[in-house]
Amino acid sequence: NTPSKTHSFQAEVSQLLHLVTHSLYSNPEIFLRELVSNASDACDKLRFEGLNNAALYENDSDLAIRITLDKTKKTLTITDNGIGLTAQDAIDNLGTIAKSGTKDFMSKLSGDQKADAQLIGQFGVGFYSGFIVADKITVESRRAGAPISEGVRWVSGGTGDFTVETIERAARGTSVILHLRDDAEQYLNAWQVKQIVNKYSDHISLPIQMYKEAWQDAKEENQPGEMVTTDEWETINSASALWTRPKKDITDEQYTEFYKHISHDFTAPLAWAHNRVEGSTEYTQLLFIPAQAPQDLYYRDSKTGLKLYVKRVFIMDDAENLLPHYLRFVKGVIDSADLPLNVSRELLQESRDVKTIREGNTRRILSTLEQLANSEDATEQEKFRTFYAQFGAVLKEGVAEDTGNRDKIAKLLRFASTTSDEVSRSFADYKASMIDGQEAIYYITADGLAAAKHSPQLEVFRKKGIEVLLMTDRIDEWALGYLTEFEGTPLQSVTKGAVDLGKLQDDDEKKAAESAAEQLKPLLDKLEATLKDKAKNVRITTRLVDSPACLVADEHDLSPQLAKMFKQMGQ
Ligand code: ADP
Ligand code: MG
Repeated sequence: NTPSKTHSFQAEVSQLLHLVTHSLYSNPEIFLRELVSNASDACDKLRFEGLNNAALYENDSDLAIRITLDKTKKTLTITDNGIGLTAQDAIDNLGTIAKSGTKDFMSKLSGDQKADAQLIGQFGVGFYSGFIVADKITVESRRAGAPISEGVRWVSGGTGDFTVETIERAARGTSVILHLRDDAEQYLNAWQVKQIVNKYSDHISLPIQMYKEAWQDAKEENQPGEMVTTDEWETINSASALWTRPKKDITDEQYTEFYKHISHDFTAPLAWAHNRVEGSTEYTQLLFIPAQAPQDLYYRDSKTGLKLYVKRVFIMDDAENLLPHYLRFVKGVIDSADLPLNVSRELLQESRDVKTIREGNTRRILSTLEQLANSEDATEQEKFRTFYAQFGAVLKEGVAEDTGNRDKIAKLLRFASTTSDEVSRSFADYKASMIDGQEAIYYITADGLAAAKHSPQLEVFRKKGIEVLLMTDRIDEWALGYLTEFEGTPLQSVTKGAVDLGKLQDDDEKKAAESAAEQLKPLLDKLEATLKDKAKNVRITTRLVDSPACLVADEHDLSPQLAKMFKQMGQ
C-alpha cells in the first residue's frame, strides 16, 4: 500500500458540494438513484470495452449491482462489478467536474433551492449527491483487468479535500460506502431502500440485489420471532431494459424515471413515443420530448442524439446520426437488431440502416408533436405551448435543414400576429381568417414584438383588416427564406419590394397613387439625387396610412434585421 495522499477538490466541486448538501436535503433519497445509475453506467462501459477485450470480464460476466446495509457501522454500500476505477480515474473523476459548460452552470446558480436543484440535475453531478445523506464517503475500486494490488481507496468528508491510497482489492469494480449522517438512518432500513429502488431504478437493465430478509421464529418459547437478514441475494428490480418491455406493462412513472436516468434532467418529459419498428431495418425506438431546454442547446459542443444499443448492448451515448440536428433536444434510446456490435461513429455515418432509423425517428417526433398541437385536450395543448416556448426556435431550423419534412414542420410553427400577442397563430389559422380576395400570407420580421407591431409598414394592412404575422425570433427571417408558400398560398414579407395587394387594392387607390407619382416626380427625383448613396430609389406607395415615409428592402435583398444580424456576426 502506498501512503494515502490528500488532494483538494477543484473549486467548483467544493461550491457544488455545498450546494448539493444545502439545496437537495428536501429530496434526499435521490442519492440512491444517482449512485445506482453510476453503477449501471460502469457496467455498460465494461460491456462495451469487453466486446473487444473479453479478458476484462476476469471470468465473471454476471454483471450486477448490490446494496448492503450495516446497522452497526451505519453504512449503506453500493457495489458493482463494472469497469472500476484506477487511482488516477478516482482523482480525475471524483475530484473535478470535467464537463463543458460547468463554469456557465456555476454562474447560473441563483441560491433558489428549487431552481438550483434542477440545474444540478441537468449537469449530472450525481456522485456528489451521496453527501446529502453521508458525512463521509469511501470508494473502493479496482479497474477491470488491473492487478489485485492496484486497487484504490478514495475517502472524503465532502468538504475541501479527499484522500487517495492504493489498496489490494480482489473484486473487480466499485463499492461506494456511505457513512450515513445521524438524520439519515432511515436508509439502513432494507424495506425503505427497496421502495426507493423500485421508485427510481426499476428500469435499470441489470439486477439490483439485496440480501433477502426472512422471518425467523424465536429460539426459545414465548419469545417473539424476528426479521433477519439472510445471506441469500434477492433481485429487487425488474432487471430488464425498459424499452424491451411491452408498452402496456410500463407505467408513466417508470417512463419518467427512465427519462431522468438517461437525460440528467429532473423535470418530467412532456411526451414520449415507444415503438418496435419492423421492416427492412428492425429497431426499437423510445424517444422523449423534454419540457425544458438544456443550457447547452445552442452550444457548438452540445450533446446531441440518442443512446444507441445493439441487441441490448450499450454502444454509445450521443449518437448524433440518429436524429437530424434540429431535433437535437430529443432524448432517448435506439436498440437496433441490425447494426454490428463493433459499430463506430464513422460507420454510423455511412450506414443505410442508420439513415432509415433517423428518418423513422424524425417522422415519429413530428407526428408526436402534431398530436399534441392538434389535441382537443387542454393539458395536451398546454404541453405543446410549453414545447414551443422552449424549442420552437430550434424546430424552425428544420424548415431549412429538412426539405422532405418542410411542410410538416411548417404546420407546427406558431407566431404572434396583429390579432394575437400570444405566439399561437399557425399558418392554417391565418389562412382560415384571410379576407375575401387576399392571396398571400403576410408577415413582418422585426427585433421585437413592439417594434413589429408599431411598424409603419403595417398601416395599410390594418386599414384593410388584413392580419400580418409578427416574426420576432432571430432565426425567423432566415428560416422563412426557405418557405415560400404554405399549402399553395405564397408567403410575402411586408417589408420587401412593392407589396402587391393585388385584388385587395381598389381602383381609386391605384389611380390616386399613379397621379401622385406623376405630380410628385420632381420631388422624388430630388430625393433620389440627395439620397443616392443611401437609397436605391424613392417611390410613391399605397402602403402607408399615417406615416409619411418608410424604408423597404428590395424583394431579393437582405432585410434590415438580417443585415444587422450578419453585421453583428462580423460578416
Ligand atoms: P456522471 O455519471 O454524469 O458522469 P457522476 O458525478 O455521477 O457524473 O460521476 C462522475 C464520474 O465518476 C463518472 O463519470 C465516472 O467516471 C465515475 N464513477 C462514478 N461512479 C462510478 C462507478 N460506480 N464505477 C466507475 N466509475 C464511476
Ligand atoms: Mg452519474
